Amino acid sequence: MKRTPLLPAPPLAALALALLGAWMVFFLGQPLGLILGGPCFLTGAGLLLRQGFLQLGSAAQVKSELESENLSLKDRSRHEDRLRQGILVHLREGLVLLGPGKEIRLYNPAAQLLLSSSSRLTLGGSLHGLFREPETLRHIDRAFQGEVTEWTLRRDPRVLRLRAVPFESEDGDPSVLLTLDDITHQEALETTRQKFISNASHELKTPVTSIRIATENLMDGGSVAPGGEGNLKAILRSVDRMTMLLNDISELSRIETGALRLEPMPIQIGVFVPQLLDELRHQAEPRNITLKTLVEPGLERTVIEVDSLRLHQLLENLLSNAIKFSPVGSEVTLRLQRRDPWILWIVQDSGPGIADSDAKRIFERFYRAASTRGVPGTGLGLAIVKHLALLMGGEVSLQSELGRGATFTVKLPLQG
Ligand code: ADP
Repeated sequence: MKRTPLLPAPPLAALALALLGAWMVFFLGQPLGLILGGPCFLTGAGLLLRQGFLQLGSAAQVKSELESENLSLKDRSRHEDRLRQGILVHLREGLVLLGPGKEIRLYNPAAQLLLSSSSRLTLGGSLHGLFREPETLRHIDRAFQGEVTEWTLRRDPRVLRLRAVPFESEDGDPSVLLTLDDITHQEALETTRQKFISNASHELKTPVTSIRIATENLMDGGSVAPGGEGNLKAILRSVDRMTMLLNDISELSRIETGALRLEPMPIQIGVFVPQLLDELRHQAEPRNITLKTLVEPGLERTVIEVDSLRLHQLLENLLSNAIKFSPVGSEVTLRLQRRDPWILWIVQDSGPGIADSDAKRIFERFYRAASTRGVPGTGLGLAIVKHLALLMGGEVSLQSELGRGATFTVKLPLQG
């Protein structure tokens, strides 16, 4: 803002001039005092008055500038409020902002629509009027502790995808922003797709098994034309590959459709781990790979509650990958660490590793990294691992760098 200079001449000089003029009028007497002091006094007083007026004028100008600035700020803030309100009203996603006491601070119409009339949204209302589902309440608690979480909520007739994002409000209070997406349609498609995979793999398994048996009989009976054995072996290899694929597909679809039920039982780590590694030796030995275990002291005697068959399947997938992708003669390590209430199962290899760009998608079905093409596989093993870990109440993560091996960590609850 441009301001007019308030004092064109130093005020003290004007005052001194006026005083000097007055002194001369009084003390020098007439006519000399009037002749010399009069103009001095008038000039000084004039200057002082002028400065006074200037100051008044400039204060009024400043005031009016401030007022118009204030008005334009109010205008802008009203405009931004309207814009924000418009965005909230037109969003298809539901938004709910929870304050530090989990009270509703803000919400949009889509949130009310998606949550249906069973949940009343009112400003200042409680979270418990909105959600009663324990899983949802647990996720929101985790968001208040600083975690970003996502989960699915079924509210007949809708299926919603919820996401809770923690953030600090302007006054530094912890708040959580909930977003709600209607995924009813995608969910229906996904169920149809999974049912199809489940049925198709079931239907295909029988003929594949019949081809295998017939081929084996032919080979055993020796009634094959000379040179035909090579073809039969090729058929067997293809059948084996198809069987592997079908097994993985049907396994994954059983987990994803909820058909697979866990059967937790107490197992002792010191018994389970050696058995698991023994069963993998036939894969490691032909490649001269050493399987090592590093179990934290005291953990061997620990008994955990887990579905041993499924834990075996999960670790077998990770260890088989580590063995098949590692260079001949290298080492694969299974490390166990207790981090109450979790137990960490860590599989480490010194193979080709996984690039960051692949790591993001490596747990997706059928995704295979370009760097490992040529090594047989279905691309379903890690998807099975991920789903099994989730089903067991845990999770799997990957730490890797291209060319520097891969480490998969499975975090599972000590008591399943
Ligand atoms: P598959 O091993 O049958 O291809 P997975 O789902 O088990 O399928 O693995 C998916 C992909 O992840 C693999 O094709 C490979 O590219 C990569 N991968 C998995 N484990 C490792 C590993 N230990 N080292 C390097 N790459 C791996």
